[in-house]
Amino acid sequence: MAIAQSTAPLNPNGTPMPAKDAELVKNGSSSLKAKIDTSLLTETLATSLKEVPKPEDLVFGQVMTDHMLILSYAPESGWSAPEIKPYGPLSLDPSSSCFQYCPNVFEGMKAYIGPDGKPRLFRPELNMVRMEKSAERVALPPFDTTALLKLIKRLVAVDARWIPRSKGCSLYIRPTIIGTRAALGVAASNHALLYVIMSPTGPYFRTPSGISLLGVNEHVRSWPGGTGGYKLGLNYAPCFHPQRLAAEKGYQQVLWLIGENVTEAGAMNFFVVVKRDDGDLDIVTPPLDGTILPGVTRASVLSLLSAHPTQTSLPNLSNKTRLYTHERPITMTELAAWSAAGRLLECFVVGTAVVVTPVSRIGWQDRDIVLPEHKAVMGPVTAALYERLVDIQEGRVEWQGWSATCV
Ligand SMILES: *Cc1c(COP(=O)(O)O)cnc(C)c1O
Repeated sequence: MAIAQSTAPLNPNGTPMPAKDAELVKNGSSSLKAKIDTSLLTETLATSLKEVPKPEDLVFGQVMTDHMLILSYAPESGWSAPEIKPYGPLSLDPSSSCFQYCPNVFEGMKAYIGPDGKPRLFRPELNMVRMEKSAERVALPPFDTTALLKLIKRLVAVDARWIPRSKGCSLYIRPTIIGTRAALGVAASNHALLYVIMSPTGPYFRTPSGISLLGVNEHVRSWPGGTGGYKLGLNYAPCFHPQRLAAEKGYQQVLWLIGENVTEAGAMNFFVVVKRDDGDLDIVTPPLDGTILPGVTRASVLSLLSAHPTQTSLPNLSNKTRLYTHERPITMTELAAWSAAGRLLECFVVGTAVVVTPVSRIGWQDRDIVLPEHKAVMGPVTAALYERLVDIQEGRVEWQGWSATCV
């Protein structure tokens, strides 16, 4: 049969793919142009501006700013001229692959106001690199990360009045790429829409004494060889049902396990502080083995901990205390044993949205591992990391160029 002998890629129904699609499948997206021409940016400003909510009324991700950035990709022409325009609905073909096969990626970053009144971003180039990797994982077109960052800075400048000034508040930035190939064939999306929206935000959790986690392994968030190490929309929907079950049992977030091994909590990286025999502290987080999202906050926390006390003193931590960081597997049995021996001092979760947030208890096999209570609410290591990170992010402390003004 002619079709069976053809070397051309086939559609799922066995017919040969149109030449253009076959080319895409053969070459992958890497051969497509990544260029974004920032000089073509057009700005259309909103004629009526929204009211900015008071910092105390902020609920994460509820209100969007006045403007958004948007550009599109087509295989013939590459990335379009970028546009900053009033925030508003998109119009998409219902057969677009983003609705069917979910080639969708996103990022989470924040803008802060520094003491000089200027907007700043925290290590944004790390978000750009991660976004590029996520896009590649679902065969979305590549893009010029430097150009995108420049455009994001411009968007932040346009909506700068939305950046809350109170400590611990910031403007959350959500860069997104969706596949917009308007066809049902199960194939890479050769069209895409890249947009960036922003939302002012206060503290993510309003339980200062710490959040509760339920260890879950009958549902998994990620698996070896899977996509848990990328920020893909498709990783999150399957977590909603287990999250609801945990909430019904009285826990705020799921602690995602693979077998007995801890991976992450909710969409946050997980750390424990364990007392050593010599009185110093081990601070342990699971390794980036592909099942864990490589968080910017995680990397920053590890590097701040390693800098104490030789390069910096973390707030209110003794210079005599040595902090030993470890990226290695953590099992629930270990956690329970450390807890029983009185060695499990602190447990905290980290991420752009939550910064550094303490954990108060972890449900596992119908019992709770209860973390010690601390006078100052957060444990000393958790508090030190929170304080220092927010000081760096908000520009009060200069540290290795992590926070840079954006205009
Ligand atoms: C975004 C995210 C994190 C945190 O990453 P940051 O870069 O620190 O914001 C952790 N885990 C998951 C699953 C995430 O999606």
